[in-house]
Amino acid sequence: MPKLAPPPKPAKLNLSLQWGTIPGKEINEKLDYMEQSGYQAFEIPTGDWLLKNGEALKKAMAGRKLFIATACGPSNFSYGEPEKREAEVQKFLPQLEVLGMLGAVGLILCPARGYKQMGLGFKELRDDFVGNTGKRLAEKAAQCGTAIVLEPLCHQETPFLKQVADGAAMCRDMESPGAKVMGDFWHMNREETSFFGALMSGGKYLVHIHIASLRNRRVPGTDGDADNYVDGFKALKLLGYQGAVSFEGGFPKDGNREELLGRMKQLLREQWEQA
Ligand code: MG
Repeated sequence: MPKLAPPPKPAKLNLSLQWGTIPGKEINEKLDYMEQSGYQAFEIPTGDWLLKNGEALKKAMAGRKLFIATACGPSNFSYGEPEKREAEVQKFLPQLEVLGMLGAVGLILCPARGYKQMGLGFKELRDDFVGNTGKRLAEKAAQCGTAIVLEPLCHQETPFLKQVADGAAMCRDMESPGAKVMGDFWHMNREETSFFGALMSGGKYLVHIHIASLRNRRVPGTDGDADNYVDGFKALKLLGYQGAVSFEGGFPKDGNREELLGRMKQLLREQWEQA
């Protein structure tokens, strides 16, 4: 069998939640919960929330063991009118400055939403993102010490960037250290033939992971045997992955959220060991 070189640093399982999922109202209350519950990272909202709360969050993070993974919110560059695409760029530039100040991994972006491109073909839109709008945001992100993180979606949702390999190719073509990619187990389960293959294709560009149960997109573990991530975790280990594995999804109607999250952590740690 071929021997693969071990990664420079051994991979780590950094469990993470999204801001809205974290119990508590105040910033410190949420961060206390995350530390006390054994998480390593978390995701924050984009937009006005980020601009308004950046400074307070920076203060609240002092002395904590947590890191800020990504900022996650709506993005869309699929407009025929160049001024509308430019408005999207302008909207995100100050947010990248805040994310850099916070030392966050990056800003999640989905270049195209839906199939109504209003006068711009999919190829032109992808080329414009890679050569212009996305590239400029990646360069700004790199200047600020953070990144844009491309999120592949399902084919029903986007005409391109459906697979991690496509996102990694876009990063390669942007030729900026601020261009990165992520994998979302929910989308990968629909678009990829292999979690392992998909994440390995992300390679050095892979900096973030979303995870959910694989039948209903809820807390991992609530879909029984379907919730098997071992194959993907093997790739993360081979890559020496240092990013977060962040739960993005809903909760079942019944059941105690705290218990469900506790079982999720246990399940993911067990599967990480198995990988
Ligand atoms: Mg996602």
